Amino acid sequence: MAREVGTTAREIRELPKAHLHLHFTGSMRPATLLELADRHGVHLPEALTSGEPPKLRATDERGWFRFQRLYDIARSCLRTPEDIQRLVREAAEEDAADGSGWLEIQVDPTSYAPRLGGLIPTLEIILDAVRTASRDTGVGMAVIVAANRMKHPLDARTLARLAVRYADQGVIGFGLSNDERRGLARDFDRAFAIARDGGLLAAPHGGELAGPSSVRDCLDDLHAQRVGHGVRAAEDPYLLRRLADSGVTCEVCPASNVALGVYDKPEDVPLRTLWDAGVPMALGADDPLLFGARLAAQYEIARDSHGFSDLELAELARQSVRASRAPQEVRDRMLADIAAWAAP
Ligand SMILES: [Zn+2]
Repeated sequence: MAREVGTTAREIRELPKAHLHLHFTGSMRPATLLELADRHGVHLPEALTSGEPPKLRATDERGWFRFQRLYDIARSCLRTPEDIQRLVREAAEEDAADGSGWLEIQVDPTSYAPRLGGLIPTLEIILDAVRTASRDTGVGMAVIVAANRMKHPLDARTLARLAVRYADQGVIGFGLSNDERRGLARDFDRAFAIARDGGLLAAPHGGELAGPSSVRDCLDDLHAQRVGHGVRAAEDPYLLRRLADSGVTCEVCPASNVALGVYDKPEDVPLRTLWDAGVPMALGADDPLLFGARLAAQYEIARDSHGFSDLELAELARQSVRASRAPQEVRDRMLADIAAWAAP
């Protein structure tokens, strides 16, 4: 695209990106939450109706519990296949507006299953919604099925088998979410083995609420190919080198880290530390419903708080594309478009 040299910085929304860390309910538009709550008679706490992101601090258990409780209430507003279709369509529309050409949305179908007829119908409804939204918006989309580490490892194995069954129908990865301080990653090693053997990408959360050891556990016990967050690896130079050498991408979500109190300010998120160490990153929004910032805003933080130049932002976008499971033709097209965005 044409741009006059020496004028303003390039438009971040026009930089093609892959979005690899976005949770299902957490992607919801605040206005949609209000409408669905009204329709289904769900009473929302003020923290979800004020129009401002709630004040959260998840570095203690009470704060994390509060975050989860708000999330559960929001999730309880998704009750029908139409609700699911709307959520996915709007997530794709928001991503398209932020320059995303590829979106991997993360979901634990368990929590929606009781109202949608069980695990299998739920995943089929989600995959159908993803295909429709992708076709209508032009954003390529895929699903990461994520287990909940607060639940029994056998539940995770069930989900891994389910995910593998739909590997050729839009499921590309297997994740593990919720409080890293609870339980051990290795309790879920069998579930991840099932997922990897079935050709799925292993992308558990680690290194957000817990320190570098949680990232190491993801690598050693779950053979993670990507790590959700992973920012706390910045506290361990050897771990940074290991991530860089093995090309494991960290799905870094700066606004989420600040909203949950992992870091006090955007400047404190160790983007530069990971960058300088050569650790590949894919910036993501995590839960924009609760944190108030979508995809482009994460790149704005890299620019405004960490001084990333346009060429560095373009490289960040390339890293997100390379770490994605987008088909080769989509990757090629996005990399060419990134080069055009960065061209003088
Ligand atoms: Zn997450």
